[in-house]
Amino acid sequence: MLDFVQLEADLGQEEQLVRDTAREFVADHVRPDIGNHFENGTFPTDLIPKMGELGFYAPNLEGYGSPNVSETAYGLLMQELEAGDSGVRSMASVQGALVMYPIHAYGSEAQKAEWLPVLGEGEAIGCFGLTEPEHGSNPSAMETRAERDSDGDGYVLNGSKTWITNAPIADVAVVWARDRSSADDPVRGFLVETDRDGVTTPEIDGKLSMRASITGEIGLNDVFVPEENVLPGVSGMKGPLSCLTQARYGIAWGAVGAARDCFEAAREYATEREQFGGPIGRFQLQQGKLAEMATQITLGQLLAYRLADLKERGDLRPQHVSMAKRNNVRMAREQSRVAREMLGGNGITTDYSPMRHLANLETVYTYEGTHDIHTLILGEDLTGLQAYQ
Ligand SMILES: Cc1cc2nc3c(=O)[nH]c(=O)nc-3n(C[C@H](O)[C@H](O)[C@H](O)COP(=O)(O)OP(=O)(O)OC[C@H]3O[C@@H](n4cnc5c(N)ncnc54)[C@H](O)[C@@H]3O)c2cc1C
Repeated sequence: MLDFVQLEADLGQEEQLVRDTAREFVADHVRPDIGNHFENGTFPTDLIPKMGELGFYAPNLEGYGSPNVSETAYGLLMQELEAGDSGVRSMASVQGALVMYPIHAYGSEAQKAEWLPVLGEGEAIGCFGLTEPEHGSNPSAMETRAERDSDGDGYVLNGSKTWITNAPIADVAVVWARDRSSADDPVRGFLVETDRDGVTTPEIDGKLSMRASITGEIGLNDVFVPEENVLPGVSGMKGPLSCLTQARYGIAWGAVGAARDCFEAAREYATEREQFGGPIGRFQLQQGKLAEMATQITLGQLLAYRLADLKERGDLRPQHVSMAKRNNVRMAREQSRVAREMLGGNGITTDYSPMRHLANLETVYTYEGTHDIHTLILGEDLTGLQAYQ
């Protein structure tokens, strides 16, 4: 596997173990069938408890069954999972960074005890409802609302969320909504069990990207949730945005894994495929593509490793994560296209990974803050001037 400047030489034992476990899992359980799942538009749901058993969801959290591994180990896990497929990494990111993280950071003791162990084991599935049909890049304009019910012992939720990973198979949704019963309508997080009256979670069909991942809507029609389902520890956009920082950190690593897998497919193909009397890898044009791909992947890896160091010592800012998500996903998107082209006609099939990664990366480029939005976040950080509106 490409590790050109020997970053993995410095890994600790635990980090090596996490990397190897995830790499083996992908080789044994993801690669053999992922092309079929992609073609059929299905997710390998049998892997959900298996991933839980292996501790893939939120191993960087502490307590409630999570071992609190290093941020590098968590990043390596995301890298290896996305080398398999962005859909598999998305499953782990949503469950860990977008569902378990907010419960861990902002939940009550009762919420933590109820949900963290079962989510961690993959016995329950969670989803994260922030995006709405009319509000994607600007979630603070959300219309989903919570109002105190007449007895005052809970809230009634109304609204709709869309593009929600895992919504159709989720047991619980972390729904972000404006609390109309408090001054200034602050955004609050609500744990909504999907079997509550008034909840619908239809699947979104017709995706040409992230096909091996289940995506849906969340409809909320007069849904009652008791007071104890509100995340007590956070109010305002800090809630959802802090979750996104966690998930984007994993994406910055994961995208490197997708790019690396494309590189390995292209390198192997270049040494085996013969044209004009020998392997195409002997042509300077093909070597130039591999050299550039390896360089860009290595730069992405360096950024990811640095992010891990900053996160570990508590110095990571959301803007650091924006730079890494923006750069590494763009890099992976561009390099997957080059890898695809090196595979010629065979490259457009599901027999090889690059075109699948390329298609998936269109989603990764768009979700968790589009490339444009991360550009604006960096622009604001660099100039002190906002350019969103
Ligand atoms: C497969 C998939 C899974 C997803 N999973 C989840 C999930 O689990 N939970 C969840 O909450 N959401 C999820 N999303 C939603 C995702 O986060 C949104 O699609 C994303 O935030 C962009 O929002 P939008 O699609 O409404 O695009 P829009 O916000 O409408 O943007 C359209 C275009 O306009 C550009 N644009 C927007 N504002 C500006 C501006 N100020 N300046 C310049 N350009 C701008 C954007 O960059 C983009 O190119 C998922 C999306 C996909 C595709």
